[in-house]
Amino acid sequence: MTDNQQKPSPTQQPQNNLRNPRSWVIPLLLLILMIWMLIPANWRRTEISYTEFRAHVENDNVAQVTVQGDQISGTLKSPGTKRVKKGEDVQYTEFETYLPSFGDEELMGLLESKNVVVNTKPTSDPWLWYGIISFLPLLLILGLVYAQTRRFQSQGGGIFSVGKSQARMYDRSEVETTFDDVAGAEGGKQELKEVVSFLREPEKIRDMGGEIPKGIMLAGYPGTGKTLLARAVAGEAGVPFFSITGSDFLEMFVGVGAKRVRNLFQDAKKEAPSIIFIDEIDAIARRRGAGLGGGHDEREQTLNQLLSELDGFEPNENVVVMTATNRPDILDPALSRPGRFDRKITVDLPTTADREQILDIYVRNKKLGDDVDLKALARGTPGFSGADLRNLLNEAALLAARHNREIIQWRDIEEARDKVMMGLQRHGLTMTEEEKRMVAYHESGHAIVGAALPHSDPVHKVSIIPRSQAMGATQQFPEQEQYIYRKEYMLDRLAVMMGGRCAETLVFGTSTSGAANDLQTATQLARSMVLEWGMSERFKYMAPGGQSKEVFLGEQLGKSREISERTAQEVDEEVEELLREAYERAMEVIRDKRWALDRLAEMLEEREEIAGEEVHEMLNTETTESD
Ligand code: ADP
Ligand code: MG
Ligand code: ZN
Repeated sequence: MTDNQQKPSPTQQPQNNLRNPRSWVIPLLLLILMIWMLIPANWRRTEISYTEFRAHVENDNVAQVTVQGDQISGTLKSPGTKRVKKGEDVQYTEFETYLPSFGDEELMGLLESKNVVVNTKPTSDPWLWYGIISFLPLLLILGLVYAQTRRFQSQGGGIFSVGKSQARMYDRSEVETTFDDVAGAEGGKQELKEVVSFLREPEKIRDMGGEIPKGIMLAGYPGTGKTLLARAVAGEAGVPFFSITGSDFLEMFVGVGAKRVRNLFQDAKKEAPSIIFIDEIDAIARRRGAGLGGGHDEREQTLNQLLSELDGFEPNENVVVMTATNRPDILDPALSRPGRFDRKITVDLPTTADREQILDIYVRNKKLGDDVDLKALARGTPGFSGADLRNLLNEAALLAARHNREIIQWRDIEEARDKVMMGLQRHGLTMTEEEKRMVAYHESGHAIVGAALPHSDPVHKVSIIPRSQAMGATQQFPEQEQYIYRKEYMLDRLAVMMGGRCAETLVFGTSTSGAANDLQTATQLARSMVLEWGMSERFKYMAPGGQSKEVFLGEQLGKSREISERTAQEVDEEVEELLREAYERAMEVIRDKRWALDRLAEMLEEREEIAGEEVHEMLNTETTESD
């Protein structure tokens, strides 16, 4: 019943639609028909004056007339001429004219006397036209509905194809992606290699007593290459890849989702060994009976169907089901029960070395200037995902193109990174001189403290160019990837965050709203130090708020471990103490380096952006001078 022809991937659809004559021949014919009907017959006739008509009758030159209401049309015995433009005459035998509104009582007698054949038509003829005109909108609507349905069907699972298994309800493809296209993610690749060898030779593995997980869940931040990894598994194994995205299930009517799941599994089994990949499964597999918005029938049906398909798998079916999610914390626990998605692979954000490899992949098709240092870029993009890096290089290429350069230079990359990290520059935003000065001092405060304290990351850049997310910024990047952070580092970081506020207070004797974000971030960091890392005096040996390792968004909100009210109060006191100390340390540095602070602020006001090296140099010369 099912035909398992190669289903074109959605990206090929538009071309296919044009190439397939069935999609446009019928609408075209309809159009031609309509135009034909709309051309009135009287376009073929020449309109003449009533006087001229009377003259023709009197000259016995009229063969026949047709009278319809006040319209008179007819044929001449020998052609008449009519002057259209100067020096241009047309000949005609078919004519039409109109009876004057005051009538012409003699006309009938005249016609009879000249033996003209008189036809009459009922005046109701125009009703035909009214009919067509009033049906036109209906026709148009029908046409639109028809076109829409066709589009739905070609996208998969249209309203008329519910339950028809061959409708394109998912994407089936042969994949070329391999593990070489995925940089880093070594842990995940290692685990998935096992799956690849199983898919290549299922019998062999089984004979050796090997068991392969039916369901694999890839979990990790967005853009870390989960989808890419799943495709790479299919590519490496050379098996068909049946994929669908969680949100696809939800766009159709109730019941369709469950059917799609059934068809997906059926078809994949027929082509086994194969891979089923359900991307972004959180869209359908949220914790049931909980969450915002209450129950969602369609989602629950789809999820139930999915679970029962997973359970109904025979061990010899040679189909591996993979799924990916950014939000493992909100998934229904039923999903990860043994025999379902019981193998979880966490895909981490890339490390510095991984980032360099990813950059290497995406510069292959780009021309880079000699000044581009990918190592430095990898170091300067902590927290970037693979997708972010790709996006950054793309932005850089666009910027280079905008400046009419074919080669991407370092400054394009710098600009692109700032854009990705801090949002677009806000052109046309005018700050007053005083605001600008305040921002300059605020950022200088961060930068001076950052450059002066021994354990903090080097300052990379200070900027007071207003962007969508902040009025200014001080960037610091670590010299190398760090996996363990010492308390000294944390304390210095807190002080750097306080540096902005300190400078404001010291120089202007007031506080601004610009420090809001600094204070929030600092408070969060200080809380983690007290609650999790035992870095406060009071809780040296205890983690009052033990958190699970995966700090994916969501669940942690409002669900920290129960602590007594007294402990909670003590935690708050410790957090405050850490922040106060950080503030005082920052203030000390700034008082001490007031000279550098003033100078940097001045430079910033003038140039808006200062490289971190300049700040470091400035402080170094100052120390040697004062020695
Ligand atoms: P996810 O599914 O985890 O959100 P994707 O697999 O869709 O992320 O990744 C988006 C894009 O980012 C990929 O198509 C790829 O171009 C790029 N990318 C992400 N991670 C990597 C990586 N480790 N190696 C190479 N490219 C990557
Ligand atoms: Mg994805
Ligand atoms: Zn700040």
